[in-house]
Amino acid sequence: LPNMSAVSIPPFEATAVESIPSTVNLCKTTFRSQKTKPIEWRLQQLRKLWWGMDENADALIEACKKDLGKSAFEAYISEVDWCKNDIIFVTKNLAKWMKDEPAPDIPLTNSLLKPKIRKDPLGTVLIIGAYNFPIQLTFGPLIGAISAGCTAVLKPSELASATAMVMKNIVDNYLDTSAYAVINGAVAETSALLNEKWDKIFYTGGTVVGTIIAKKAAETLTPVTLELGGRNPAFITKNADPRLAARRMLWGKIHNAGQVCISQNYIMVEKEILPAFIEQLQIAMKEFFPKGQKASPDFSRIINNRHFHRIKKMLDDTKGRIIIGGEMDESENFIELTVVLVDDASDSMIVDESFGPLMPILGVNDIEEAIKTANSVDSTPLALYAFGSKAETSKVLNEVASGGASLNDAFFHASIPTMPFGGVGTSGQGSYRGKSSFDTFTHRRSMTTTPGWMEKMLGVRYPPYSDAKLKQF
Ligand code: NAD
Repeated sequence: LPNMSAVSIPPFEATAVESIPSTVNLCKTTFRSQKTKPIEWRLQQLRKLWWGMDENADALIEACKKDLGKSAFEAYISEVDWCKNDIIFVTKNLAKWMKDEPAPDIPLTNSLLKPKIRKDPLGTVLIIGAYNFPIQLTFGPLIGAISAGCTAVLKPSELASATAMVMKNIVDNYLDTSAYAVINGAVAETSALLNEKWDKIFYTGGTVVGTIIAKKAAETLTPVTLELGGRNPAFITKNADPRLAARRMLWGKIHNAGQVCISQNYIMVEKEILPAFIEQLQIAMKEFFPKGQKASPDFSRIINNRHFHRIKKMLDDTKGRIIIGGEMDESENFIELTVVLVDDASDSMIVDESFGPLMPILGVNDIEEAIKTANSVDSTPLALYAFGSKAETSKVLNEVASGGASLNDAFFHASIPTMPFGGVGTSGQGSYRGKSSFDTFTHRRSMTTTPGWMEKMLGVRYPPYSDAKLKQF
């Protein structure tokens, strides 16, 4: 783990709004110059990004600590190494993905036209990131944009301001700045960016801003990928192993102090197993944090005071009963992981996204009741977790929609680079990660080439039409 004291991070500085049009134009001109299309160029930029992250790993980790109190361990596994591993996966496979694909399952006559699908880069794209995984959610899509041959402008979250500055430093010093740029700032800067015409907007964040982005993009028919929030349900049936479920669900909430778009928003536990599950949660909590969470360097802080109060208000408003945790310290935006037993599916802890270290538990009589409750929440979950017998977890998977799902665990479905990550319904549209990131910024362009010698054969299609000609089709 790095020596933090050696790192200095410049104070946050917003980019001048007046400079935005010329930055965007430069990226567009570079794209039109064809420079970003050869595979050698893409690989070089990806490798430079890898080295930029490697050589600045200490600064990135220190910045995550500053912004979120994130432990170096979590910053490595879910930010720095996450992106570096994605770059390695992409560079290994890029040549294969970029190849033209022959049209599948075609009759012989069509094959004479050499039909194929090209993989054309979309152009100049805008990537807007969220604060909770400030590196992964900004550099992750960038890896896709570079691999697809696009130029890109990044707008990291201003809430994770230290990380935004380190990322800008990496892009400015390692990548080709005629093709890639970081614009730092908040609403004014993002609005100026949205006034530009893009070939794609890739947005990660909440539904409210996601709607603003989608409406703005619609004005110019700009395609969007939206990676939005989710009110994610977890199901624990009487046939689940309570110790295993407790440890895995607890990890799904302590990671980044619950500021994870795919962490469970609420857990429904069959009443028969509820006491055992709660007991195991208490045991696991002691094991993970023997001196408590506040004293542990492994437990993150809430991003800022506004979000501290948003989460605190959820606890103030709930009609549920706190059974574990509840400690807070506003001076350092600390909220302990808090388990709340709620009686009612209409409790605000279930219907609102906590995006923090709150773990509401609702006791249910059976799995049918749990499925009905999940489907009554007015949003499509980004993720879903289910513990129980194979038949039960399959039933949950079949009857409750979600962007992705991990059975018998938390998060794993989102960590495999050969699988797309994304939402469905209100939790988003489009996906990325590994090959999906390449696909997200690529246009699959169908094309054919008709040989001149076929003209006689093809003459049948020209007027004057006749019954005799029709019979030849
Ligand atoms: P947010 O929507 O507040 O901010 C995201 C980005 O939008 C930031 O870069 C911000 O500067 C910009 N923005 C904010 N207000 C804007 C406005 N009025 N106009 C234009 N741009 C604006 O989201 P957040 O608070 O950073 O993240 C939390 C939310 O994001 C949660 O709902 C969480 O579930 C979701 N999220 C989703 C994913 C995913 O992959 N699906 C990942 C992380 C977070």
